[in-house]
Amino acid sequence: MPYAADMNPGLYIHVPFCARICPYCDFAVTTGAEAKRRAYLRSLDAEIEQAAAAHGDWLAFETIYFGGGTPSVLPPAQLSDILDAVRRNFSVSEDLWLTLEANPEDVTDEVAGAWRHLGFRSLSLGVQALDDERLDFLGRTHVTETARDAVRAARSVDFDLVSIDLMFGATGQTQRSWSRELEAAIELQPDHISLYQLTYHEDTPFWKWLQSGRRAELPEPQQADLYLQAVEQLSGAGFDAYEVSNFSRGRKAESRHNRKYWEHAPYLGLGPSAHSFDGDRRRWWNHRNLPQWEAALERGESPLAGAETLDTDELVTEAVMFGMRTRKGLDLAEVEARLGVDLEALNEVRFNEWRNRGLVKGHRVLRPTPSGMAIADRLAAEILTG
Ligand code: SF4
Repeated sequence: MPYAADMNPGLYIHVPFCARICPYCDFAVTTGAEAKRRAYLRSLDAEIEQAAAAHGDWLAFETIYFGGGTPSVLPPAQLSDILDAVRRNFSVSEDLWLTLEANPEDVTDEVAGAWRHLGFRSLSLGVQALDDERLDFLGRTHVTETARDAVRAARSVDFDLVSIDLMFGATGQTQRSWSRELEAAIELQPDHISLYQLTYHEDTPFWKWLQSGRRAELPEPQQADLYLQAVEQLSGAGFDAYEVSNFSRGRKAESRHNRKYWEHAPYLGLGPSAHSFDGDRRRWWNHRNLPQWEAALERGESPLAGAETLDTDELVTEAVMFGMRTRKGLDLAEVEARLGVDLEALNEVRFNEWRNRGLVKGHRVLRPTPSGMAIADRLAAEILTG
C-alpha cells in the first residue's frame, strides 16, 4: 500500500454521546444512557475486528484521537477497553500520541489522573467561551470557572499538551468582549488553542432561530475582524498560527493527529460518521446515524455508507487547500513528484504577484505569510490545478 510521504497512520474514534445537545451543533451526536453506550461499545468492538481484517497490514498507528461527541462521557474503564481492543488488533507505535476530547464539566483531578494512567498525553477541552453570558448564549452547560478548573486539573496531572477550543462570531460579540476572552484564554496558559467560527448549520435550533429572527448572524466583515484580532492577540502572547484555525506555543504543541488530514497521510476512522483515507487515493466513510451504523455491525456487515477514489485533480485541489491553510505551506515540489502537476508553471504570474504583495514566501514550498493565511481559502481557490 502506498503511503503519503513517510507518515504512519492515525486512528480516529468517534464517540457519539453528549450529556446534552448544544443548539448550534451538527455533528453526529446523541444523548445516551448506559445501555446505549454499552451497545455502542459492542458495535465498536465488532468494527475494530472488521477493520483489522481489512487494514491490519497498515503501519503502526502513530496517533489515536478520541473525538465526538464527548468522549469524556465514557468512564475510564470503557476507554481502556477500547484501547485494549485496538492494541489487540492493530500495531501501535511505541511513541503513540493519544488525545482525548473532553468537556470541562467532566474533568476532575481524579478522572484526569485516570486518563493519564491510560496513556492519554493530550487533552482537548471544549471550552468554547470564557464569558458566562456567551456560554449561556451557546447553550453550554458549564460556566467559565468550570473551564478554568478543568485546565488546572489537566495541568496537575501533567498532560503533555492541553488544548482549548474557542468559538467566535456569536451575535453581540464585540472586539472588546472578544479581547477579554482571548486575554482570559492566554492567562490559562494552554499549549494549544483552536478557534472556530460560529456557523448556523441547517436544521439545528440555531438555524431555526435565525430563520425566525430570534438570532441574528454577525456580519461577515465583523467576523473577519474578530479572527484577525485573535491572530494578533495570540501571536503577541507567543502562540503561532501554524494553521488557519490552530495556534500553538511552539512546534511541539502542534496537533500531530490533524497533520495526518492536512498532509494526505493515511488515517482510519471508526464509529458513526467517521472517515478514512488510505494515504493514496481511496477515501471511505461510515453511516452517520448511530442506529444505522450499529445495525450494520450487528448483522455482521460493513458499516460503510460510501467510498470514493479521488482523481488527480481532486487530490491536487485538496493539497492546495490544506497547504495554503498551514504555515508549513504548499509543497510544490512534493505535489509535482507525487501527482505530476507543476503548480508553479501553471500559476507563475499569480504566485509572483502574491510574493510581491507579501502574501506568500518561497519557491519550492509556497508558504503563506500571516496576511496570506488570513485569506488562505480565497488564495487557494484562485490557484489553477490543471
Ligand atoms: S458538546 Fe460538542 S459535540 Fe456535543 S453537542 Fe455540544 S458542540 Fe456538539
